[in-house]
Order: sequence, then structure tokens, then C-alpha cells
Amino acid sequence: MENRKIYFDNASTTYVGNEALREMMPVFSNIYGNPSSLHSFGRDAVNLVDIARDRIAKAIGAKASEIYFTSGGTEANNLAIKGLAYANRHKGNHIITSCIEHSSVLEACRQLEKDGFIVTYLKVDSHGLINFADLLHHINSNTILISIMTANNEIGTIQHMQAIAETAKEREIIFHTDAVQAVGSISYNVNAMGIDAMSISSHKIYGPKGVGCLYVRDGVKIQSVIAGGKQERGVRGGTQNVPAIVGFGKAIEVAVRDMSVNNKKIKTIKEYFVKRLTESISDVYINGHPAQRLQGIVSVSFDCVNAEAVLTMLDMQGIAVSVGSACESGTIEPSHVLKEIGLDDVLAKGTIRFSFGKSNTKEEIDYLIETLIPIIEKLRNISPLRKKKRKED
Ligand SMILES: *Cc1c(COP(=O)(O)O)cnc(C)c1O
Repeated sequence: MENRKIYFDNASTTYVGNEALREMMPVFSNIYGNPSSLHSFGRDAVNLVDIARDRIAKAIGAKASEIYFTSGGTEANNLAIKGLAYANRHKGNHIITSCIEHSSVLEACRQLEKDGFIVTYLKVDSHGLINFADLLHHINSNTILISIMTANNEIGTIQHMQAIAETAKEREIIFHTDAVQAVGSISYNVNAMGIDAMSISSHKIYGPKGVGCLYVRDGVKIQSVIAGGKQERGVRGGTQNVPAIVGFGKAIEVAVRDMSVNNKKIKTIKEYFVKRLTESISDVYINGHPAQRLQGIVSVSFDCVNAEAVLTMLDMQGIAVSVGSACESGTIEPSHVLKEIGLDDVLAKGTIRFSFGKSNTKEEIDYLIETLIPIIEKLRNISPLRKKKRKED
């Protein structure tokens, strides 16, 4: 048996693309000045940071002055939720978000609740969509912030961004979106889309880890959430990670440039996977919205198997996938997202996320399906649940 390694976990992280890598590598040792320094070493560094800032702004239709570098998506979400809430507290103390947000949004909201803010966590339907009437119903005169992710990282569902943004705008409520999964798959123009703040992470779009940014529309008040220096115009203290920022800037430029080619490629792979999967294995259910979704993320519930066992057995054959969300593995509870879309416990615990990237091939899908068939069969054969269900049939 040849020793293969196949990666179907692109929603957890991606490799660093060649073009980004090539630009960032020399920076580590050659352009090592502190961007805040006033001498030429500092100026060289700040020039590179500014080029990256311009590229990121251009990629989402923003101005360079609206981009604040952070250590990634988690920090960008924390900065957005807490920084916008505290800076606008004089206008009200109510925040609306959804119950399927990334933990960095949900936990930031829970922290705010301990400090006098009121948070509404909108429910979602079985496809993972929030209900628009429900959103309207919960808005009140104290609502200062609506934060809804563009696309979900576990099930891939894309929300009705336009309607949410328009509603927020009409009422002068700040609209933030966690765009970490969606950037590179859907095109953004923050002005046309009415987005006031948006979180992006580099390592989900073939850039280096540990860097990301928050876009905040000029004129929207935000305050720093960590004590420190005056970097990033006082909004995010701490010396910028110059090589990572350079890689991030290139990665987002490449992601936008190649978006339609990559989307087409990934859609083909995904459709081939779904076809082969449903033809080869019985009692599988695909989660998320059937049409309004990212192509790269396919969440599959296998009846009467333990997803962690599947993951381990696939891993032994060199195939990488994830169960629920990687951020939450280690806990035995099924993910909050799967619960909120109404999956029962058995299906939730049998759910695997396959996430495809621009380098995956049909041939890798064939290998995946051939590996998966006997694994599911074996696990179902020893499943007490399966035996019980068979008897009842
Ligand atoms: C990965 C992810 C994050 C966190 O980004 P990091 O850069 O890993 O901190 C936030 N939101 C979503 C939707 C994600 O998928």
C-alpha cells in the first residue's frame, strides 16, 4: 500500500501558497525593522505593511485606512464585538448575533453579557439560515450592533447578507460580519454590501497563520481591547508581524484573482464527491443549505457511526477530515452548530466535515470513497444502535 496523505480539512486551515510564500520569506531576515521605528529600517518595514494593507483593502472594496491588522480571525472577532460594543455603549447596550457563530464571536458576546450588555442569539432553521422576521422582531432602540457570519465554518450555509445589511443601515445599527470562511469564495464590496466591519483570517485563504485583520468603516467608532502601544492607529497595540502581513496581503490578492477558477474547480470536486458518496453509502445526510452555500464545505451525517472513529480510521489511511468543528474537538459534546440546526444526537455524533481546497483532485475523491466504504460498513456492523434499528424495521 502506498503511503498517501490527502487533505480534506481546508476549512480548518490551508497550506501557504507559493506566491505568498515567495514574498514573505526574504522579509524574515532582510526587512526586520520595527514598523514603528523612525529610521530607514522602520520605513522599509512600514512600506511593506502598507502594500499589504492596500491589497487587502482593494480585495474587499475598502480603503487602506479601514484595515486593522490582528493576530487572526479570533482576535478580529474579539476586537469587533468588544471594541464596537464599548465604543458605542452610549447609544445602547443591545447586540444581535446568531447561535451558530464561531466561538470567538459567541464567547466575546458572553463576556459582554457579564458587563451589562444584552445579547440576542438568533435561532437558525434546519439549513442554518437566520429568519429575517425574527431579526426585525428583536431589533430595539438599544440595539447598537448586529454580528452575523457570512458563511458558516461547519455547514457552509451563506446568510442573506444584503437584507441584514440594509436593515442595519436603515436603523443606524453597526453591521459586522465574520467573513473568515467566505473570503476567497464569494466576492466582497463592503460599500455595495453595506458592511461596517468584517473579520478576515489569512490561514484560511492560503496565507500564513497568526495574522488577519478587521475592516472597520471610516467614521464607525471602535476602541482597542488590549492595552498597549499606538500601532494600527491606536486600535491594536503590538508590533506588527511584518512577514506574515506580507504573506497575508499576497494571499488575499491571489485568492480574489483566482476566485472564479478555484470556485469552479472546487464545485466540480464537491459535486463528484456528493455523487459518489450518495451512490456508495446508504443513510447519509448532507447538512446546510442545499443551494446557498460554500462549495468547499460538505458536512455529512452518517447514521449509526461514531464520527471520531471514522476520523481515526481515515487518518490511518492518510486522509484528513474533521468532526464538527476542529476548535471544539476534545470535548465530547456535539458541536453547537449541529445542535442548532436540529440534528439528533446520533446524527450529530456521526457528522464529518469534508472541506475541499483548490489542490484537491477527483482521484483523491475516489481514494476517499474507496477508503470510506469499508470503514462505514465495519462501524455499522458493530453498532448496537444499528442492530436495534434493523430489528425495528
Ligand atoms: C477559523 C475561523 C475563525 C478563527 O480564525 P483564526 O485566524 O484561526 O483565529 C473565525 N471564524 C470562522 C468562521 C472561522 O472559520
